[in-house]
Amino acid sequence: MGIIKTEDLTYNYIRLDEDDKIREVNEAVKDVNIDIRQGEFVAVLGHNGSGKSTLAKHMNALLLPSEGTVWIDGRDSKDGDALLAIRQTAGMVFQNPDNQIVASVVEEDVGFGPENMGVPTEEIWKRVDSCLEAVGMSAYRSSSPNRLSGGQKQRVAIAGVMAMEPKCIVLDEPTAMLDPGGRREVLRTVRELNEKKGITIILITHYMEEVIHADRIYVMDQGQVAMEGTPEEIFSQVEKLKELRLDVPQVTELAHELRKKGVPLSPCILDEKQFVKEILEARAR
Ligand code: ADP
Ligand code: MG
Repeated sequence: MGIIKTEDLTYNYIRLDEDDKIREVNEAVKDVNIDIRQGEFVAVLGHNGSGKSTLAKHMNALLLPSEGTVWIDGRDSKDGDALLAIRQTAGMVFQNPDNQIVASVVEEDVGFGPENMGVPTEEIWKRVDSCLEAVGMSAYRSSSPNRLSGGQKQRVAIAGVMAMEPKCIVLDEPTAMLDPGGRREVLRTVRELNEKKGITIILITHYMEEVIHADRIYVMDQGQVAMEGTPEEIFSQVEKLKELRLDVPQVTELAHELRKKGVPLSPCILDEKQFVKEILEARAR
């Protein structure tokens, strides 16, 4: 069993009327089976409303299944006694960094989680140092988070989650509110945590170009897993991705059409630079 496993996970949002009668049932996640290995970098893609956030919230027991089971590092999320251990195993990073920053000084913010966990002071400072270093924010440790850019704030939020030493970090559209520079910063940070520290990463996004480096991708549609595979396997199915209402970059589509005509291009072309490079190489052959 991997670090995060779901078996036939179904989740319904239920709306009641004034007399506690069920007024509306919204089946947000339906029969999802996923298994994520320790150390993997997994991306979850899907258009708005496909169930990504609902799935993510099951990965640290913020939501509990309506049907089926979720295990986090072997612990059933419905086991109330395991809640603390589960929250410590799987850290969450959300879209809006402003909602995740709690202290008025960066280093205090990063130390907040371990302090709440009862980690000894000396150990907290060690973690604060190494986590700020890992996200490239050491120079800002005494700054006020208010003065940071969106990308920098998000990196502080990631350091705060890291400081609790989770085996796994789930990031739910962490770049959605950032400018392109901030998006790159955050993605680079997340990749490094995975490669250098071996932390399992689950990156949820609706931007295709952010998932090219993932080991594996799940594509969600209408609460279900519609596709699963490596980036190569996923991006070589341009028609299917468009059916699932993902924004396929124009250059990916063009490369796909050319590949069908026999031009030797890789399936993972997501930007113009890569496209030009491969076209030149193909011509030189
Ligand atoms: P995504 O993160 O992919 O945009 P969500 O998991 O947020 O998808 O939503 C999946 C479905 O569940 C959507 O139809 C959405 O409208 C519905 N939903 C999400 N949150 C709630 C909620 N708190 N109450 C009722 N329905 C919800
Ligand atoms: Mg969402």
